[in-house]
Amino acid sequence: MEEEIRILIIYTGGTIGMIQDAKTGTLKPFNFEKINEQIPELSRFNYQLDFHSFDPLIDSSNTNPEYWVRLASLVEKHYESYDGFVILHGSDTMSYTASALSFMLENLNKPVIFTGSQLPLGVLRTDGRENFITAIELAAARENDLPVVPEVCIYFENRLMRANRTSKYNAENFNAFVSPNYPLLAEIGVYVKFERHNILKPNFKKLKVYKNLNSRVGILKLFPGITAELVHAILSVPDQQAVILETFGAGNAMTDEWFLNELKEAVDRGVLLVNVTQCMAGAVEQGKYDTSFLLKEMGVVSGYDSTTESVLAKLMFLLGQNLSLEKLKNKMNSSLRGEMSVE
Ligand code: ASP
Repeated sequence: MEEEIRILIIYTGGTIGMIQDAKTGTLKPFNFEKINEQIPELSRFNYQLDFHSFDPLIDSSNTNPEYWVRLASLVEKHYESYDGFVILHGSDTMSYTASALSFMLENLNKPVIFTGSQLPLGVLRTDGRENFITAIELAAARENDLPVVPEVCIYFENRLMRANRTSKYNAENFNAFVSPNYPLLAEIGVYVKFERHNILKPNFKKLKVYKNLNSRVGILKLFPGITAELVHAILSVPDQQAVILETFGAGNAMTDEWFLNELKEAVDRGVLLVNVTQCMAGAVEQGKYDTSFLLKEMGVVSGYDSTTESVLAKLMFLLGQNLSLEKLKNKMNSSLRGEMSVE
């Protein structure tokens, strides 16, 4: 007899797990032990579904690397006992958390599917029911006795995406996430259509979980008229180890002398600068224009077509390993979990 598939559902908080208070009309988290009352269809799965609820539950705006470590530790603790994991998480920072988990869980050979919703489960027109049920199906999907999607993903409104390629781009549409620089892993309509060639292959190595994250990272978003004081302030935060430069277009920045001097001074102090485009899609190509050539010359690392969320998570993950600057740059220039399109 085939063994029953086991899925662990981890509920961290966010809109999905809310109901409307009958008296006040405000949204409040419901007791997740009563999830079957909200979604009676869950009992129709032929899988063993177990639940773990965070206490207290959080709005995802309150997440931070400590929560990421808690989540990664939970996956580690239960890794051998389950075939897949579904993480219910607020959508606001889901791309950050899910990107971080993709780096923290090395040699992941099982599905970790993040989902959430724009409308609470306790609301009639909720998108949460479909997202939740399909996320469970995706986490349980197997072929030739192997999981179909052995990676960290976000499932939202019919689309399965590699987590570290996503950004939340819409605050109210059910279709809240995009994966602008990497194709979907699956599209779900009447049929579940897996795009197998886009999905990472299992490597059958032992899971390794990294729990040391270093938050000495900043983001400097450029804009016309940015002042020298602001640039200086962000680049000279004490103990800052890396700063993401959110640049224009294909990685371009102003060429004012004061600006380049500020960057150069930061590089000389050992701060790693990473160039990520402000555009929603496309890649940084340092050296294509004069306005990025100088960045390349001074040692700014290209983020290629990575999202800011994924570069931030990758930096926290790599800086936590106390690598030499050379190793750190090498890893930033390589795709570790399919997070960017480099050879
Ligand atoms: N503010 C909520 C959160 O991110 C929104 C959501 O769940 O989608 O926790």
